[in-house]
Amino acid sequence: MPKITILFDILLCIVIVITLFFFASSFFNQQESHAGVAIVFDDNYVDHWFDTRPLLQKYNANVTFFVTKFSELNKSQVQKLKILQQDGNEIAYHGNYHVNVNKYLVSHTVDEYFNNEIISGLTMMKAQGIDPVDFAYPYSRQNATVTQELTKYFHHISMASEGVPVNNFYYYIPGSNESLIYATDIDTRFNYTQNDFLHVILKAKNDNKIVILVAHDTSDTEPSNISIEDSYNIHVEDLEGLLKNVSQNQLKFYKISELN
Ligand SMILES: [Zn+2]
Repeated sequence: MPKITILFDILLCIVIVITLFFFASSFFNQQESHAGVAIVFDDNYVDHWFDTRPLLQKYNANVTFFVTKFSELNKSQVQKLKILQQDGNEIAYHGNYHVNVNKYLVSHTVDEYFNNEIISGLTMMKAQGIDPVDFAYPYSRQNATVTQELTKYFHHISMASEGVPVNNFYYYIPGSNESLIYATDIDTRFNYTQNDFLHVILKAKNDNKIVILVAHDTSDTEPSNISIEDSYNIHVEDLEGLLKNVSQNQLKFYKISELN
């Protein structure tokens, strides 16, 4: 009889250990979700970006603003960027003159590119207390030599893709430590619907990945001289729909500096 008791005890222990293991692993898996969305805005639509502040706060969304032509901003706009940064958003860099790197290098050296397009603007921003750690190439153009050199200044170098079918969006793999990353342009001119956004969000959630979405201006309407087809703009109501979808599906809002 004692032998049977010992055998029973051993079996009971094994069952307990296996049960605990499954509970622990399912708990661990739940904790390990890194799925999320990185929302990015390019250029220098600071006044309109600032107007979305209540919306970003409503959904606890932190986003990244890639700023170009910083020298053209007035004092009030620089102050607005600082407030957005204090809110927890990232202020990143998008070039001093917003040049197409490959066109620029036809008549300039790589050194000139760095002095005029990178270092000069960065210095101006740093003097104002803004210290960008990420860079987005203007015009979705990149150059391998420049990209290599840019990694000395920035943690991430972002490239935008335009007109991408909804099934072909790029997803960042958490933990992959990529420095060259790809954002998909979701401006109104590409006609994505809220259902498309939901599809992308659910894919990120199911695959435990991060989708990087880029827009430019944030306003309710296009300027009177610009048609939707030419507009670098996401309407505020569409932005709200996107933020709501991300929030309701409990995905994390990532800043670009948080991708690792
Ligand atoms: Zn741009």
